[in-house]
Amino acid sequence: MFKSAYVKLTIWYVAIVMALSLAFSVWVYQETTREIRSGLERLRQPAVIGRQLPSAVVLALEDQLETARQRVLQNLIYLNIFVLGLGAGASYLLAKRTMRPIEEAMQAQNRFTADASHELRTPLAAIKTEIEVFLRAKNPSHQETTELLQSNLEEIDRLNMLAEELLLLAHEPTVQTEPLDLHRVVQKACKRLKALAAKQAISIEDKTETVFARISQKDFEKVITILLDNAIKYSPKESTIMLQTQLYKNIVELKVVDQGIGIQASEKDTIFERFYRTDTSRSKTKVAGHGLGLAIAKKIISSYGGTITVQSVVGKGSVFTVKLPSS
Ligand code: ADP
Repeated sequence: MFKSAYVKLTIWYVAIVMALSLAFSVWVYQETTREIRSGLERLRQPAVIGRQLPSAVVLALEDQLETARQRVLQNLIYLNIFVLGLGAGASYLLAKRTMRPIEEAMQAQNRFTADASHELRTPLAAIKTEIEVFLRAKNPSHQETTELLQSNLEEIDRLNMLAEELLLLAHEPTVQTEPLDLHRVVQKACKRLKALAAKQAISIEDKTETVFARISQKDFEKVITILLDNAIKYSPKESTIMLQTQLYKNIVELKVVDQGIGIQASEKDTIFERFYRTDTSRSKTKVAGHGLGLAIAKKIISSYGGTITVQSVVGKGSVFTVKLPSS
C-alpha cells in the first residue's frame, strides 16, 4: 500500500520539477533564438555596421549562429535528461520522508488493533471453553453451575474493564484551566483505595500538601488512581506506599513511592506504551490489568503540558513522578 503511495508521490514531485525545468528551457531557447535572429538581421543591414559585408563572411557568420542555436538546444535537452534522473531520485527520497510519519502512525494503529483484539479474545475464549465443557457434562451439580457462572462473571468484569480503558484512551482529556488542589484529590483517592491496600496489609502514607495545578479533577483522579492501584498491585505484603508533593518555581511535582517489585532500567520507557506489561506482571496471573493504565496516565498528563517518569530499583521499589505546570 505504501509502495504505491511512494510511487504516486514521486511521480507528482517529478512532474512538478520537470514542468519547471521545461518551462525554464523553453524560455532560454526562445530568448537565445530571438537574439540569434536579431543578430542575423543586423548583419544583413549595412546601415548598422557602416558597410556591406562580403556575402561569404555573412554566410559563415550565419552558419556559426545556426550551430550555436543547435548547441543551445542540445545542451537544454541534456540538462532536462539530467534533471529528470536527479529529480526522480530526489523525489523518491522526499516522498519516503513525507510518508514516514504517516506510515509510523499506521503501524502503531495496526499494532494497537492487534493487541486490543488479542486482549478481547482471551477472556472470550475462556468463557466459550468453560461453557462448552459445562454443556458436555451429563448432570452438572449446583456447585459446578455456580463455579462456572462465577468464573464467567470474572471474565466479563475483565472485558468491561478493558472496554472502559479503551474508551479512556480514545477520549481526549478535557483541558480546563481552573486551578485544582491536588492534595484534596490525593486524600480522596487514598481513602478509596485504603481497603484494597489493607487486604495486603499495605499502608498508605499521604504526605502531600496543598498545591495547585491546572488540571481537571476527573483527569487527575484517574491518574492518581492508576498510580496508587499499580503501587498496591506490584508491592509485597506489609510494605508502605508514600505520596508526596512539592512546588518548584512554576512546576508542581507529585511522587508515588512504593517498596514493590521494581522495574528494569530497560523497561522504564516501554511501560508507558499501550498494552505493555513486564514479564513479572504477566507471569503473576493474579495481577489484573491489560497494560493500559500508564499509557492512559501519560496521555492525560501530556495533554496538560506535564510529564510522568519513573525511577526504580528492581526488588526495592519504584518512584513515579508526575510534573504539572502550577497555577
Ligand atoms: P497494568 O498494571 O494493567 O499491567 P500499566 O500500564 O498500569 O498496566 O503498567 C504497565 C506495566 O508496568 C505493568 O504491567 C507492570 O509490569 C509495570 N508497573 C507499573 N507500575 C508499577 C509499579 N509500581 N511497580 C512495578 N511495576 C510496575
